[in-house]
Amino acid sequence: MSRVSRRVGAIHESATMAITERARQLKASGRPTISFGAGEPDFPTPSHIVEAAIAAARDPRNHHYTPNAGLPELREAVAENTLEHSSVEVSPGQVLITNGGKQAVYLGMAALLDPGDEVLVPAPYWVTYPEAAALAGGIPVPVDTNDSSGFKVTIDQLDRLTSDRTKMLVFVSPSNPTGAVYSGEEVAAIGEWAGQHGVWVLTDEIYQRLVYGGIQARSIASVAETEDRWVIVNGVAKTYAMTGWRVGWLVGPLDVVTAASNHQSHLSSNVNNIAQRAALAGLKGPAGPIEEMRLAFDGRRRIMHAMLSKMAGVTNVEPEGAFYCFPGFAAHMDRFGSTMALASHLLEEANVAVVPGEAFGLDGFARLSYALSDDDLELGLERMASVLEKAVD
Ligand code: PMP
Repeated sequence: MSRVSRRVGAIHESATMAITERARQLKASGRPTISFGAGEPDFPTPSHIVEAAIAAARDPRNHHYTPNAGLPELREAVAENTLEHSSVEVSPGQVLITNGGKQAVYLGMAALLDPGDEVLVPAPYWVTYPEAAALAGGIPVPVDTNDSSGFKVTIDQLDRLTSDRTKMLVFVSPSNPTGAVYSGEEVAAIGEWAGQHGVWVLTDEIYQRLVYGGIQARSIASVAETEDRWVIVNGVAKTYAMTGWRVGWLVGPLDVVTAASNHQSHLSSNVNNIAQRAALAGLKGPAGPIEEMRLAFDGRRRIMHAMLSKMAGVTNVEPEGAFYCFPGFAAHMDRFGSTMALASHLLEEANVAVVPGEAFGLDGFARLSYALSDDDLELGLERMASVLEKAVD
């Protein structure tokens, strides 16, 4: 009998966390390391949100357990937010407040998957999806994409990989790690496909407000054919620069959300009340501070995309959302063999940390976050450019 259970022993360390940690260690040891590994905004949380949290900490109402599914005011605000940004009408009872979007991913999968159920996961994928699906008893089935389709899955691919065990499709637009955003028509086509096949969609909308160039990210839940077979994952982390506060949510049909809520009641009970009040202040507060952050990301996106596109042996599809570029390094693969090796070389020679594509199920590419200061962004990319220049000589 093994000491660690097979189920939990099979979970891998998050590769994105590992590279960020390695870069942090190098920096602490005095190396001028610039990390493009971060999966979070570099801005502090807007001050009106922080002030609301301070007031909440002083209020004894928040010092005790509250309803496990979340503060009623916050569930109501999330229902309104879901109507406004995902165009689906839900009641507050269909909202479960979770410890970050990450917990909502797991609870959503655990509520829907039985052992052996297959989950279509577009690749490159955010590392948590296949891990969470497997932990919940499901079998992740990657749907491989690359830059030739702008990292978007096609209906043909979905058809080919669907079996009678397929229960769920994971859909994330804007995407981590690629920054790809599906057009309204593409979302409609995939939603119709899911409806025809009776496949559930777990739609991760955590980056829905971080889109650029005047486009909008349509929610697949708003496609009528999906009927009620969807769960939305969202949260305050990225939009409001609140990653450390740990507030997210799961929205879906009442029976599924009630089951997930029962699950959470035995896992962690209610989310920290002070953080919930802060999230409420974010949702109800002014849009100005979050628009400022979005504009700053957009500026950096343009700089990063332009600089990457000029680097020796590098290609980059222009990302339209989130805060990542996902360039390709095909011309360097003969020399380095893998982007894992290329990333180590960049860390040693350029003092620059990028996350190798292997972490997301696609070798030959790497993820660079542009959630860092303008100065570091340009300096890091210049260093990377000169090391890659030498590599192709
Ligand atoms: N979904 C995606 C696609 C993400 O990139 C992240 C954060 N890296 C999350 C969900 C979870 O965010 P959090 O748990 O911080 O709310």
